Amino acid sequence: MTLIELSELTRHFVNGSDCVAALHGIDLEVAEGTFLGVMGPSGSGKSTLLSLLGGLSQPTTGTVRIDGIDIYRLPAERLADFRREYLGFVFQSHNLISYLTALENVMLPLAVCRMKPAEKRRRAAEVLERVGLKDRMLHLPSQLSGGEQERVAIARALVNRPPLLLADEPTGSLDSATSRQIMELFCELHRDGQTIVMVTHNRENLEWFDRTVFLRDGRIVEEISHRDEPTAV
Ligand code: ADP
Ligand code: ADP
Repeated sequence: MTLIELSELTRHFVNGSDCVAALHGIDLEVAEGTFLGVMGPSGSGKSTLLSLLGGLSQPTTGTVRIDGIDIYRLPAERLADFRREYLGFVFQSHNLISYLTALENVMLPLAVCRMKPAEKRRRAAEVLERVGLKDRMLHLPSQLSGGEQERVAIARALVNRPPLLLADEPTGSLDSATSRQIMELFCELHRDGQTIVMVTHNRENLEWFDRTVFLRDGRIVEEISHRDEPTAV
């Protein structure tokens, strides 16, 4: 099944009298269960593409369909619900709240859910265990290593069980050994069926992806399939 469908997607920015085309007629279909890499030099449009996928921006022209939903046609409050239900975000600066424990940080996205507090804790604990932090749940971010903080951020992104996980340079600030461990974690999530779109400029990450699209000047200039995409079930 197709989870993401981008059609003639364009995004312009106006800077005074200059108009920058950050994205230029992007067409892309991504099957459910794919681990997609988005690579390209700085300024090629990767962040713009990810924010459009995340419902955080507005296309100048074209459409973003996720699970068949034309997301920028949704009224603002429905778009907010959609983002909560469908998307998990992992950023390079993981924005953990410094005075909350790992467990409390992971529970944050559940704040608006009608779920008993004990159930929220159970869910958050379960996903922390999933990312290998069973023994670190009550630690503050400052008591955790960079790799562990990244795991907390990944757990927080997954706690709502979103069909789509979006990651922007999630290993950008990690050393190469830690980076590898984090990529292995993403890979395990992917093996369990998680659809992931990851922006990176680290070529070493390429080996992990099912498929990689390369951007340059706002266009897809190359695409590599590393293995067969998951077929429809
Ligand atoms: P990347 O993530 O690959 O570094 P970006 O998507 O951040 O690329 O940027 C693509 C192009 O769009 C760049 O030329 C950048 O300067 C421009 N751009 C991105 N965001 C904005 C913005 N908010 N306002 C003006 N120009 C922007
Ligand atoms: P990345 O590190 O992912 O490439 P950037 O440093 O390109 O991200 O951009 C960081 C943020 O700044 C993004 O939200 C982007 O939209 C914005 N931005 C990028 N270029 C410009 C620009 N020329 N003018 C205004 N905002 C920009």
